Amino acid sequence: MSLHPLTWLFAAALLAALATRLWLATRQVRHVAAHRHAVPGAFASRVTLDAHQRAADYTVAKTRFGLLTTAFGSALLLGWTLLGGLDALNEAVRDAVLPRWGALAYQLALLGAFVLIGAALDLPFELWRTFRVEQRFGFNRTTWRLFAVDLVKSALVAIVLGAPLAALVLWIMGSTGGWWWLWAWAAWTAFNLLILVIYPTLIAPLFNKFEPLRDETLAVRVQTLMQRCGFAAKGLFVMDGSRRSAHGNAYFTGLGAAKRVVFFDTLLATLTPAEVEAVLAHELGHFKRRHVLKRMLAMFALSLAGLALLGWLASRSWFYTALGVTPNLAAPNDALALLLFAMALPAFLFFVSPLSALLSRRHEFEADAYACAQASGADLASALIKLHQDNAATLTPDPVYVRFYYSHPPAGERLAALAAKPA
Ligand SMILES: [Zn+2]
Repeated sequence: MSLHPLTWLFAAALLAALATRLWLATRQVRHVAAHRHAVPGAFASRVTLDAHQRAADYTVAKTRFGLLTTAFGSALLLGWTLLGGLDALNEAVRDAVLPRWGALAYQLALLGAFVLIGAALDLPFELWRTFRVEQRFGFNRTTWRLFAVDLVKSALVAIVLGAPLAALVLWIMGSTGGWWWLWAWAAWTAFNLLILVIYPTLIAPLFNKFEPLRDETLAVRVQTLMQRCGFAAKGLFVMDGSRRSAHGNAYFTGLGAAKRVVFFDTLLATLTPAEVEAVLAHELGHFKRRHVLKRMLAMFALSLAGLALLGWLASRSWFYTALGVTPNLAAPNDALALLLFAMALPAFLFFVSPLSALLSRRHEFEADAYACAQASGADLASALIKLHQDNAATLTPDPVYVRFYYSHPPAGERLAALAAKPA
């Protein structure tokens, strides 16, 4: 029996991605452990050896756990595809649903069963991460009850938003002919725009409380900065992140009138007013430099290319057989095509992830530069150090690991760039 070139290509990409991930994780663990004994010079006066070593231990624990999930994920992917898992699931769902409920119901049931099995297999890892890894370092504040409630809520959101989208895309694939991928892309793009608009106001509040800033003197300071930067006056919210975790963060989200900057209460508790202003100026920098818009346009362009490729692949029978699935003769194969594509693509995309990480780090430098111009660079620097300490983020990551995975530049590089700016 001779194997199709796509089988070889996919297996090679999967193995190469796995090997690279293992290699990177090993590098990171070694690098962090090798620098555990001393706080790096640039931070010596501001970070204690205790905090530095806690960050090293946390980073090593997280990276090791990541190794485990990566290995499991790769084995699972192989099981679904070349070892016949999806083929078996497809056959079972098809026999049970197709004769009685029809083609669309069969395809939706297949997607649903796949997502459900994936989520169930993922659950033990998520439990271990929350109640073992995070717990051990004192970060976890999620109770079992809250964990269960979150799970139910996420499932409901996924069904309410995902099922209609899946039904629409399957309908488009089945009834709009050879150019279906263009229509599917339009639907996908519209869906993403909708999510961007409703996420801050309708979805995120299902999981957290968002309130305007309570501290009045700080609020005045913040308003002045936002007006100076041309941002809507009601754009800053405090989120009760402390319900689930001691990790602190701030982020920029939304589109149009829904756009807002969100501070975790955990972060707000540790920063001085001047530092809050500097962090807010950084987030406004993302808005001013149009980072969300740029990322969105890039994603739309990539998804158009991806769907065009799928439009071509979905009508070749070797696309299915090469990835371990026998296509149906008596029913549509659109759900199968979507699943196979969604599974195979990440193995190849892994090798372009350094590029997207690089662009993301550039955006962070740009936002830092903007913050320097609108607020104080020194305050941003001290806020960054606090943020790293609160999250036990290592100050000494492996440089190659950073190139692949870090969406934010390492603290040392950001501080050096801030120090080089005129005060
Ligand atoms: Zn940022």
